[in-house]
Amino acid sequence: MNKRPPIQGIGPLIAGLAMLGSMVWLETAPAKAQEQVLWPEQVLTALLNHVSGERAYEDTATLASLSRYPISRGFHRAATIVAERARQAGLKNVKILAFPAERPSWDVLSAELWLVEPVRRKLADTDEIAVSLAMFSHNAEVTAEIVDVGEGISDADYEGKDVKGKIVLASGPPAAVQQQAILARGARGIISSFSNQFFGITPPPDAVSWSRLSPAHLTDESAGFAFMISPRAGQELRRLLRQEGRLVARAHVEVEIHTPGQLEMVVGEIPGAEVDDQDIVFTAHLDHQKPGANDNASGSAVLLEIARTLNELMARGVLSPPRRTMRFWWVTEIQGTYQYFFHHPEDAKRILVNINIDQAGGNRHGRNDFVAILQPPWMGTFVDDIIVHLGRWAMAHLAEVYHAPSPRFVAPLGTRRPFHIRFWPYAELTDHLVFETAGIDIPSISLAVASLEFIHTSEDSIEHIDPTQLKRSAFLGAACGWLLANVRPSDVPRWLAVIRQGSQERIGRAESRALALLAMSDEHTIHQNFRQAYYVVEHAYERESRVLASVARFHEPADQDETRALLAYESKFAWNLFAQQEASVRLLRENYEALCRQLGIEPQPLQPSAEERRLSQRIPRRTISLGPNFREWMSFTSPQLGPRLSQLVKSLIDGRRDLAEIHRAVSALGHRMSLSAVEQFVEQLVAKGWVEIESR
Ligand SMILES: [Zn+2]
Repeated sequence: MNKRPPIQGIGPLIAGLAMLGSMVWLETAPAKAQEQVLWPEQVLTALLNHVSGERAYEDTATLASLSRYPISRGFHRAATIVAERARQAGLKNVKILAFPAERPSWDVLSAELWLVEPVRRKLADTDEIAVSLAMFSHNAEVTAEIVDVGEGISDADYEGKDVKGKIVLASGPPAAVQQQAILARGARGIISSFSNQFFGITPPPDAVSWSRLSPAHLTDESAGFAFMISPRAGQELRRLLRQEGRLVARAHVEVEIHTPGQLEMVVGEIPGAEVDDQDIVFTAHLDHQKPGANDNASGSAVLLEIARTLNELMARGVLSPPRRTMRFWWVTEIQGTYQYFFHHPEDAKRILVNINIDQAGGNRHGRNDFVAILQPPWMGTFVDDIIVHLGRWAMAHLAEVYHAPSPRFVAPLGTRRPFHIRFWPYAELTDHLVFETAGIDIPSISLAVASLEFIHTSEDSIEHIDPTQLKRSAFLGAACGWLLANVRPSDVPRWLAVIRQGSQERIGRAESRALALLAMSDEHTIHQNFRQAYYVVEHAYERESRVLASVARFHEPADQDETRALLAYESKFAWNLFAQQEASVRLLRENYEALCRQLGIEPQPLQPSAEERRLSQRIPRRTISLGPNFREWMSFTSPQLGPRLSQLVKSLIDGRRDLAEIHRAVSALGHRMSLSAVEQFVEQLVAKGWVEIESR
């Protein structure tokens, strides 16, 4: 080693460091990118060898052949098939649960739309394209002239046009056209070329969109019908109308409306052998239009495949029965999942984690980005770190960039695409949001391989589904579920290592955001920005302390010595985080002072105002439970704050944060809101009897 200090420049220092590096390398095995430490290797290998994209593909095809509208006979047929296959897959206690719905059920029996003058041509037929009839259409036998009303959603669209007794041709959303054309002006029905769009992506021109009329008029026979045609067919029909001057159509609609409607779900489980109050719940929404292959016949099929694989591996003695119960729910998206909790409020406490799969098959002819939706900002638990750890390991070891993916990570009949997973900040997209609702408070791992160009249209069909993506979805879901179902207290040190990595990355991002806020300041904004930067850092550490504390769920009171040892171990991580926070705040303060000097102004002490001090004495706590009033609690919004901020404040109320801390957290998350607005809103919640405020 180089014993002399590097006084002749940095050359010798670099040489010395290089040598040190090579010595370390010689003494240890070369480090591979992203090792995983949470799963026994043989478990991942067994799962990779046994999950089948092809089996999941067959189930996807079966479910995609049925219309599975929420609250419908079609959904019941799909539920019956899933229940039967769930039993075959070895699940126990398989049942179809039913809850009363707020509206009758609705199904199509048959519907056809014909052009009868001046030529005879079929325009739509639900036997060919099931979504050709908008949901909540009514029975009809109508022959009438077609009137083009443009979008058909404003008074101007109807100026100088008589639509009474006619069928309007419109491109606006059918429920809005129904209001204007049928309910306000007496038209008999609608031909709609409306096209669904998600995230600004337009479906192909021949795709027919899944759409609906207003459910409020479901029992009113005069509320009409809407046939859906593709944008291209709409253009063609408009051209023909201009050319011919007069078109006459004949509509036949036969639907079944059944009162009372029922929301159904299929449940089944792999019973846990040791821990009885920390269930893992897999969810996939079974409802949607026909075909709805990717959204979400695929996720429903992947749940079956996960169940089958785990049971098969247990039967072969490769895996032991799980310590915790693994439950499988096939639901009606969001509304059905809420219904379950409203009817089983006691269950929320006994669920450890949700794993939600919504769109599992991607598009074999297009891009296939896996997405894992991360936790909401008010929730801090270990779950994000698990899926990030597994996802990165899979990218590095099973589908390395510039290499063909491992054969174990490819379905024989699927594509050989690379695997790429992105981690999305929280977005309210699918059933995970139900579990993460304030008051239900269950963290979720939510996976998707979306095909946004086809979603909610006739084109979301089985031929686009990639068995390889189904296999990967089943693998990721099964691996996360197996891990969570089998954690032991003795695993906690390895969990802490993984959490530490996630924590440092999240803290690093918050810190650089805070420093950037300071660096971008001028003499007018620097004091305010310093305050904001401080909130950002404070919130990041507060969240990480929650993440760390969340592993305490794995302590088992049966062994008190072990629990004591673990607590001591965890508290070292907690103290370290605390010391790190002090250092982060010091760095921020020193930066602030240096920038103030540069700008020629005096730094100001970061002291709470009298108002802040007062509010820091008041700690709100939720008393609302998952009972009859919960729905009102969820939808309660302050007009002053709007829905987003109202929800955020409600979610931040946890019996620990005082009102000043809630205000600082809102601010750290990038929202502007006055202290008094926070207090007023919380007082409204108190007046409703949903929240209590304790004084320090
Ligand atoms: Zn979906």
